Amino acid sequence: MPALAADVLIWGGDALSGRFLPVHSHYRAWYPDNTLQTQAVAAPEMFYFMTETSFASFQLAAPIMQALKNAGFDKPTPIQAGALPAGLAGRDVLGTAQTGTGKTAAFALPILQAMAAAPLRPRRFAARALILSPTRELAVQIEQEFKKFGTGLGLHTVLIVGGVGRTGQVNRMSRGADIVVGTPGRVCDLLSTRELNIEQCQFFVLDEADRMLDLGFMPDIRKVVAQLPTRRQSALFSATMPKEILHLAEGLLRDPVKVAIQGVSSTPVLMEQSVHFVEASGKRHLLATLLKDPSVSRAIVFTRTKRGADRVALQLSQEKISATAMHGNLAQNARQRALEAFRTGAVRVLVATDLAARGIDVAGVSHVFNYELPNEPESYVHRTGRTARNGNAGIAVAFCDATELTYLNQIEKLTGVKLAVASGTRPAHAAPVKKPQPHPNLVVRKPKRAQYGEQNNQRRPSQRAA
Ligand code: ADP
Ligand code: MG
Repeated sequence: MPALAADVLIWGGDALSGRFLPVHSHYRAWYPDNTLQTQAVAAPEMFYFMTETSFASFQLAAPIMQALKNAGFDKPTPIQAGALPAGLAGRDVLGTAQTGTGKTAAFALPILQAMAAAPLRPRRFAARALILSPTRELAVQIEQEFKKFGTGLGLHTVLIVGGVGRTGQVNRMSRGADIVVGTPGRVCDLLSTRELNIEQCQFFVLDEADRMLDLGFMPDIRKVVAQLPTRRQSALFSATMPKEILHLAEGLLRDPVKVAIQGVSSTPVLMEQSVHFVEASGKRHLLATLLKDPSVSRAIVFTRTKRGADRVALQLSQEKISATAMHGNLAQNARQRALEAFRTGAVRVLVATDLAARGIDVAGVSHVFNYELPNEPESYVHRTGRTARNGNAGIAVAFCDATELTYLNQIEKLTGVKLAVASGTRPAHAAPVKKPQPHPNLVVRKPKRAQYGEQNNQRRPSQRAA
């Protein structure tokens, strides 16, 4: 690394297109007085951004510093460098950053630091901090992160998510909780029965707010916010900032410090992206062939539907490729089991719907396959964001049949990256989407002879009128 006089060094450069990332301009935005010097260096072989600040400069409590060291966090990521000073000073934070940028620690560390500085025993059923996440898996992950950085602080964390029994959660709440991580539905449920009390809650975090909006959680969130005390510290993190989220943030945050890192339109730079033009009927064979390559050490295959995920997982198992499906129709413990098996490496391939596209952080995902392209281009960015995390390399492979050409065009427009063609030829026009036709055996035809009731009705109209 060349020695440069800069507080922040941003290494950038798009391996694929040579496009330069505007990361450094965001840094400038945080330091409006221009006290910070930035320098961007094109070095495609080495990516990600680093900050010259270290965690030591934040004066965190000793157990937290130790936990950071154990976790291998030496330097804060940009969102952390931007959000931590504000959070530690007690300010509200509005953060925009794509997934995989380290948002969890950006909101967790200030909360942990405050709790380390003022250890209080929470009252029965009361929470000192509440973190809301859109999916159960993400909530589990956030709770684990809190536990990891909070070791040695003696904090009591409680996970409040749906899909599993509530008794255990209520029991854990009965002695009060320092940190509650939950999904909106179950949190509202426990609030309504007074088995969760947030009237004294000092910290509130809304993670992946735009996803919450997509999933229709806004009414639940409003219910939660209405019960929070006005004196509190809040943070809102979101990958995109649509109008609704900005509006929500206005009501939720008080004079927030805004931190923005790259728009959602950017895919990780160290990611190799390619597309196979293939007919729908050829996808199954192609996927099996590609997955048999041993360099595919850990892969996520995304399908559009839950049934599609089940079907592909089954087909792969038939090909003797260890695969498991994960989608919203599975019971919560089955979902968690599938994710755990994938995380530990017991299965090599996870076939999932967009449920797994956000926030799921599994180390070392080498490949992401888009078996079916998503109809929202942002989903492509989220899906592929499961690989090439944390400065690692990753490969994203898309399958595109003629009906999906429009989706592909939208994706290329959003990301500004033209996917390399790995096989097949690009169709000139998009084929119209075929509506699924029922199997001929399942079509219910009108019987040829009149049925019992029909005959009766026809013969005696006068009687019915009477
Ligand atoms: P996001 O919520 O933005 O998707 P996460 O908080 O899940 O991101 O972090 C993504 C990954 O990066 C996690 O594996 C996390 O442990 C790791 N990570 C976060 N911050 C750092 C850091 N400062 N140094 C090293 N690894 C980090
Ligand atoms: Mg996250």
